[in-house]
Amino acid sequence: MAKKYVYYFGGKKAEGKADMKYLLGGKGANLAEMVNIGLPVPAGFTISTEVCTHYYTNKKKYPKELKAQVLLAMKKVEKELGAKFGEPKNPLLVSIRSGARASMPGMMDTILNLGLNDTTVEGVIKKTNNPRFAYDSYRRFVAMYGDVVLGLKPQTKDEHDPFEVILDEKKHEKGVTLDTELTAHDLKDLIVKFKAAIKEKTGHSFPENPFDQLWGAIGAVFSSWMNERAIAYRKMYAIPEAWGTAVNIQAMVFGNMGEDSGTGVAFTRDAATGENYFYGEFLMNAQGEDVVAGTRTPLPISKLAEAKPVIYKQLDKYRKVLEKHYKDMQDIEFTIQQNKLYMLQCRVGNRTAFAAIKIAVDMVSEKLIDEKEALRRIEPDQLNQLLRPIFDKVEKDNAVKAGNLLAIGLNAGPGAACGRVVFNAPDAEEWKKRGEKVILVRVETSPEDIKGMDASEGILTARGGMTSHAALVARQMGKVCVAGCSVLNIDYTTRTMTVKNKVVKEGDYISIDGTTGEVILGQVNTKPSEVLQVLVEKTLAPKEAPVYQLYEKIMKWADKYRTLGVRTNADQPDQAEIAVSFGAEGIGLCRTEHMFFGEGKIGPMREMILADTLEDRKKALANLLPLQRLDFEGIFEAMNGKPVTIRTIDPPLHEFVPHEEKAQRELAAQMGISYEKVHQRVQSLHEFNPMLGFRGCRLGIIYPEITEMQARAIFEAAVNVQKRGIPVKPEIMIPLVGHVKELKMQEEIVRHVASEVIAENKVKLNYLVGTMIEIPRGAITADEIAGVAEFFSFGTNDLTQTTLGVSRDDAGRFLMPYVEKEIYAKDPFEAIDQSGVGVLMQIAVEKGRVTRPDIKLGICGEHGGDPSSIEFCHTIGLDYVSCSPYRVPIARVAAARAALKFGSQQKKKSTKVIKRK
Ligand code: ADP
Ligand code: MG
Ligand code: MG
Repeated sequence: MAKKYVYYFGGKKAEGKADMKYLLGGKGANLAEMVNIGLPVPAGFTISTEVCTHYYTNKKKYPKELKAQVLLAMKKVEKELGAKFGEPKNPLLVSIRSGARASMPGMMDTILNLGLNDTTVEGVIKKTNNPRFAYDSYRRFVAMYGDVVLGLKPQTKDEHDPFEVILDEKKHEKGVTLDTELTAHDLKDLIVKFKAAIKEKTGHSFPENPFDQLWGAIGAVFSSWMNERAIAYRKMYAIPEAWGTAVNIQAMVFGNMGEDSGTGVAFTRDAATGENYFYGEFLMNAQGEDVVAGTRTPLPISKLAEAKPVIYKQLDKYRKVLEKHYKDMQDIEFTIQQNKLYMLQCRVGNRTAFAAIKIAVDMVSEKLIDEKEALRRIEPDQLNQLLRPIFDKVEKDNAVKAGNLLAIGLNAGPGAACGRVVFNAPDAEEWKKRGEKVILVRVETSPEDIKGMDASEGILTARGGMTSHAALVARQMGKVCVAGCSVLNIDYTTRTMTVKNKVVKEGDYISIDGTTGEVILGQVNTKPSEVLQVLVEKTLAPKEAPVYQLYEKIMKWADKYRTLGVRTNADQPDQAEIAVSFGAEGIGLCRTEHMFFGEGKIGPMREMILADTLEDRKKALANLLPLQRLDFEGIFEAMNGKPVTIRTIDPPLHEFVPHEEKAQRELAAQMGISYEKVHQRVQSLHEFNPMLGFRGCRLGIIYPEITEMQARAIFEAAVNVQKRGIPVKPEIMIPLVGHVKELKMQEEIVRHVASEVIAENKVKLNYLVGTMIEIPRGAITADEIAGVAEFFSFGTNDLTQTTLGVSRDDAGRFLMPYVEKEIYAKDPFEAIDQSGVGVLMQIAVEKGRVTRPDIKLGICGEHGGDPSSIEFCHTIGLDYVSCSPYRVPIARVAAARAALKFGSQQKKKSTKVIKRK
């Protein structure tokens, strides 16, 4: 049997269904599904993505079976509709719609009303007795075909669409402003002019034969898979090229048949706030893109309930049917033709982080989904938005009172953003590169603006509704967005926007509130999110904070399912407190060197470094001891019995001394020694590659007194805090260990000091000594190291540097291009390079457990807060991840999702024990 390339949908039964997206694309699969669940969908068929793949692997040729299958499917559609494609008296008209697996704005635009020509248009007139409608459909078709298939669509912002120009001339000539005011005669004349323009610009005549039109359009869809915009979009969202696109060919229904017809788009819930409220927009006597194009301002769906109550009721019923069926919020398209409702598309709707969380939580209460499914639906990074700042209310009110409220638009993407105005996407990217915060201001946005939108703090548009391109993309990116702010008068050539009498120039500051739609001149300060106000500032009660309540539910679920522990990287008591309020279960990395930069500490630190003799060094260290002890007491108190991993000094000493002559002279004067001496000592600390130099445990081995002082500070602090009735769990971590002997030497110092402090104070104190695994030799000899270490913490920043042989600080020039060339899938300093660094980690885990089955395993590199890396840590069986305080909630959710995806990791029990020499 011939391979099946074409799938019919229509009537009561479709050949496809929702889970065939890989073959039918998202649009095709869902059209089929809607047919199968009994919704009214105009009949049609889908050419599968396999044809796209075939097309590109066979020099742009179709499989030979395709033509016959298309014609056969067309026959079925004709039968369903009672009309015939290309037939003069009773022509069937179709739309050609692209449809990849994931929705892709870079793809070919839809072509409507295909099948019209000078003969069939007469058939339509006879059938409908409505010449205006027939010519309106025809002129739209010729323009769309010219733009999309014949390539007349302008490529840059400065060019004009030839058909728009002709249309505007016509409107001007007739003294009207709206398309709907043109007569049948005007429209007929437009068609002639459009075709002349096509002939002039392409040298070819507009194809009159409907089958030529059909194959031309199909070819255009497949070609658009490889256009620049589509490629850029795929890159950005990591969509593989091999997926290909499908093509949908569907019988037309007409929203432009008069005032009893119309078209609209809707979300089954509010995509910005997540409220369970039917959210949409429509236009009567309009077709296809009119609603989203922003040329006419659409009406809110609530108005449909007034204007067409029967249709509204039906639509509202479908809304519920769809949610119940898909168990998720849907984004739908519909058309009303002479008071009859048709569904034209449904898909899972994009939403803000707020909405994602609200909808997931609500759907659990509504019993549509369970807690696990709710967690699966919340991308960990989305939680970022919940933690993002909002405007300080008092400041905003003051700005409004002072007359700085420029306008109120649609609240399309919640949050607060403040930045300098730029008027085009390339500028946004450039300014961002210079370190500026920008707000991208455009009349409306289009897919080529995506990179610029990504570079902006927020997006402001003059045209387009809640479902416009700007609004959709902003929500997907989690950007603040105010859309459809029609009072803005934007002039790209002078780079200004004028509102009433106020002129805002490029580079001026504005503040936009995507939650209320307000646009304010100047900078308005922001303030912490609700979650922070409740948890950290404690200025808001949970019951008055609905956003916080959602957060709390998600966190409770996350903690129920995750098996990975979550700790934080913190060096200061206040950081530690924030992290604990976000749910941190301990400190995974306390960097002692950060403490040396604190008040009063850098002086003795420098004295210590500049000391010539052991005696002088010890004197300086004695001065540092009480200061460090105080730091650790603060940390232990803040953590109140939770484990605290403290790393002994790690960076090379030159980082602590001044490098400019002026500062060196000052230091010399302060210390009462000669400038030459300071200068010479700093010189001697210089290293060509400090990343691999005199740092980490190497310092403590050459200067054991430093480790001694640090250990004493830690243990004395622990004992002091314990004496105050606060439990303590210190874990001393030795950095940059490559050889077990290094660790052994440091461990002996630490344990010796511990026993001294314990004896001096006559107390009991539990503590651990462990190491970082951050250089390859450490990972490879982990069995030996585990003989001494009670825990390992993977320092994946250094482990990545040393495994890849890439210095992070020097990688700027080549690492991004490396990612673009797909040498590494992601920046290896952001997401663990699983097949390289990850394998070393696995080796260390296995070997470590052989020697010490109950060894504690964690990670404290930047990767500890990256969801894909957290998933990896779960799969290799670590006990915990540690990340910066603000990423703790993200890590909790990522850990829960990993557990749901892979099950809880059974720790591999080891049988053989390797003897240490
Ligand atoms: P996109 O992928 O950009 O959403 P669509 O294929 O959904 O493009 O089509 C664009 C517009 O044309 C939508 O408003 C859609 O509802 C409308 N449309 C597509 N096919 C038909 C049809 N057969 N009849 C009426 N309107 C259609
Ligand atoms: Mg659509
Ligand atoms: Mg390190």
